[in-house]
Amino acid sequence: MNKAFIALGTNIEPRKDYLDQAIQLLSKVKDIQIIQKSSIYQTPPVGYTDQADFLNMVLEISTWLPSEKLLDKCQEVENELGRKRIIRFGPRTIDLDILVYNEENKKTERLTIPHPRMRQRGFVLVPLNELAPELLLPGLGKTVNQLLNDLPEQDKKDISKWKTAESEEE
Ligand code: ATP
Ligand code: MG
Ligand code: MG
Repeated sequence: MNKAFIALGTNIEPRKDYLDQAIQLLSKVKDIQIIQKSSIYQTPPVGYTDQADFLNMVLEISTWLPSEKLLDKCQEVENELGRKRIIRFGPRTIDLDILVYNEENKKTERLTIPHPRMRQRGFVLVPLNELAPELLLPGLGKTVNQLLNDLPEQDKKDISKWKTAESEEE
């Protein structure tokens, strides 16, 4: 069994429905099991800032799929939920990024693991830190908690908890 963390992001309404549907679709994949869900955070857009605020969260999964096949599944879910790529880093119904996969540290044309921009992203590190603060990022030699501490205060101050993980339980 392999362990992976996936970041979800959405900034087109209904945002919460897109998160729920993405989780539902992933959990229906026979070779994927959802182990933990972070809280949901609301975050202002980074990079391309002329767009609506995001909801972001992170999932821990266990899977029998190798990382490329996991990426295929993530992209299938994105397509199923109507993801269009018009503006790079622009508005999206759902984005599913593989953050970490076991101890993999690799870069191919389609897939870079750990996700290459995660260490600069509060909207990824804050929810990931809830699930796995001691996770050591392959190739970076730092834990999630250390990366979060390294992040400038400016990059974290607007990340607000929107729904706690506990209140997700049904
Ligand atoms: P960013 O990667 O900066 O978060 P994005 O998520 O908006 O930007 P996408 O349009 O979702 O970018 O993906 C662009 C390409 O990134 C995908 O086609 C995929 O092949 C590639 N990619 C490389 N590494 C990863 C990864 N770890 N997880 C998901 N996609 C990845
Ligand atoms: Mg992304
Ligand atoms: Mg993506």
